[in-house]
Amino acid sequence: MRVAFIYPPVFKDGKIPLLGQNRQFKYTHSREIKIFPLIPAQAVSILKKEGYEVLFLDAINRAMTGDEFEKELKDFNPDLIVLETKTPIINFHWEWINYMKPQMKNTRFAICGDHVSFFPEESIQKSRVDFVITGGDFDISLSILVKYLDGKAAMPAGIYYRDGMEIKNTGKPLLFNNLNSLPFIDRELTHWEIYGEAYLYRPCAYILTGRGCGREGKETGGSCTFCIWQHAFWQRKARLRSPENVAQEIEELVKKYGVYEVFDDNESGAVWSKAWLEGFLVEIEKRGLKKKFIISSNARAENLTDEKCSIMKKIGYRLLKVGLEAGTTDSLRRIGKMESIGEIKENVKRAKRYGFKVMLTMMVGYPWEDTADVKQTYKVAKELMLYKTHFGDSLQASIIMPYPGTPLYRDAQKHGWLTKEGSDYDMMDMEHDILKSNYDNAYWCKKMWNIHKNPFFLLKSLLTISSGRDIALAMRGMKSLTGHNKDY
Ligand code: SF4
Repeated sequence: MRVAFIYPPVFKDGKIPLLGQNRQFKYTHSREIKIFPLIPAQAVSILKKEGYEVLFLDAINRAMTGDEFEKELKDFNPDLIVLETKTPIINFHWEWINYMKPQMKNTRFAICGDHVSFFPEESIQKSRVDFVITGGDFDISLSILVKYLDGKAAMPAGIYYRDGMEIKNTGKPLLFNNLNSLPFIDRELTHWEIYGEAYLYRPCAYILTGRGCGREGKETGGSCTFCIWQHAFWQRKARLRSPENVAQEIEELVKKYGVYEVFDDNESGAVWSKAWLEGFLVEIEKRGLKKKFIISSNARAENLTDEKCSIMKKIGYRLLKVGLEAGTTDSLRRIGKMESIGEIKENVKRAKRYGFKVMLTMMVGYPWEDTADVKQTYKVAKELMLYKTHFGDSLQASIIMPYPGTPLYRDAQKHGWLTKEGSDYDMMDMEHDILKSNYDNAYWCKKMWNIHKNPFFLLKSLLTISSGRDIALAMRGMKSLTGHNKDY
């Protein structure tokens, strides 16, 4: 069997979509954001290992034209085409499937992603798709589905499909326990070298140390009401690969591909587990990898304790991407962050004292907030950005997006927070206000991004540039900031 995992090309007013591996979808002018789609890359790697012919065709990040894309896809002549979709682009994907299906009569089509995990039947009703793969482990489910189509296995759990006029399904998707048993991602097959973001040193590679947002000592992980993957994909749980398994993959990235920086795009990294960090340090030392690479990661602020910071420092963590989300404890409580603003500030400052670079992420447009609240978010963001600033500190600001299916969307329906665009999928692209806001979202978003231009921030950043790599990073950062500013 021949299987193609694809992202068809899309352009909108000179902008490209941020789709694969993006929790929040938007169209952007920036060409500096190319996040490696880790689960799709894992999917084709599993299939290849199992002996199937595969094509990984990310036409968005390869900047392919429609003609180039169609030619490569048709030349490959797949038996099964799989697309990852999200709410704001699903109408386009349905149209694309309906357009391609008559041209590729012997090919079956499958769709996966967070939106279809919440609303699987809708895609079968509104398009000619054959299979909907629900749940976050769609790489593993896909590999079993392919074996099923090949007559070698039963259909996996979590699949929706048509049977005559009926829509049938195989029940709730399963989460697979042994992530260590998965083959490492085939980096060549998936063109790893074209991916990266402005804030990462090159050559960089993305990894997943696990799946789901964990919390030390807690059975249930993070459960922020807007956090679509934690709800649609990971059932609010967290699984980690073993430190040994992760270190082995990094060893391959460093020795075979010359990777310098590794970014762990697991929801809140693996840094929530002290035992994992300790085990990882042992593995890194055992393999002689210390100082041979650097690692950056997503992290919840609550994990930036003295104990964990000290282990992370020894391992070689560089940048921590921390969700500030909002500047008041009331907003944090309403989104289920389970951290207070005081804790976030204290822990972020501690991490900075340890010498970690911090990227803060925050959102504006919460419907219960007024201008005083968003001013507070701005104030906290500025305070943290100006605290012990080092080159590499940065922030990302966006407008809160309540994707259908999330607890936040249900709250919005209950409290009448949705605007009239709130039921139009195409409008959920961060260019339209989906939630009623009491202030100008775009203005505040831009103002937050512009903290990067604060004279003290700029001066402190410039004075701490210490290598040619830093200069290259600064150039990419400036280009990216220009793109972001055009977006708002
Ligand atoms: S802390 Fe981050 S990853 Fe975890 S649930 Fe909240 S938004 Fe999601």
